[in-house]
Amino acid sequence: MSLPEVSIAPFEGKSVCLFCGAAESAHHDYVQSAHDFGEAAAGIGWRLVYGGGGVGLMGAAARSAHAAGGRVLGIMPGFLRSRERLFDEVETIVVTSMHERKQLMYDQSDAFVVAPGGVGTLEEVVELLSWKRLDLHAKPVIFLNINGFWDTFFALMRHSVEEGMTPPSFLNAWTVADTVEEAIAQLRVSDDTPHVKHDQR
Ligand code: AMP
Repeated sequence: MSLPEVSIAPFEGKSVCLFCGAAESAHHDYVQSAHDFGEAAAGIGWRLVYGGGGVGLMGAAARSAHAAGGRVLGIMPGFLRSRERLFDEVETIVVTSMHERKQLMYDQSDAFVVAPGGVGTLEEVVELLSWKRLDLHAKPVIFLNINGFWDTFFALMRHSVEEGMTPPSFLNAWTVADTVEEAIAQLRVSDDTPHVKHDQR
């Protein structure tokens, strides 16, 4: 997909894209983990790339990364500006569609962390994994599995493998972190992890 010209301030370091929920009703543990992740990512000097909103886990992560002195890049479709309460204290790019948002988030990131979220988060990570399945990218995908939030998703993927729909090797296409500290540790080593080809049809 070709994107319209956007101007993004240069950043020499690594960037992590955080996919996470925008709901304000999320359990406190999840909001807290997003807050802690934003702060910790800033602490190791990684830029946080996210959906640009000021609500739910998204807002918690962006605010804490910003407060900790980290770089944050928000990418928001114009039509969601007020619904997701654009957090404009950080660098923000306003795009025209969900597709542009995702493409830019992918392009701007070296690794992905998937925190608890709703159907929007699910959509984002499933596309990310489906692209990995086709070897269109080799970037690390780390599930932040607070309180076992993603266990049912992993069970569905195992079911897909058992039914012959997905190669068993694909279960290694992501890693799981039960805590923010583990997710940060996995980010730090992610550069050294060799990529396994998944598309062997
Ligand atoms: P949710 O997990 O449902 O709370 O949504 C988390 C974020 O994903 C929100 O910022 C949504 O706007 C965003 N989102 C939902 N669907 C898509 C999509 N198809 N492409 C890009 N972002 C999306």
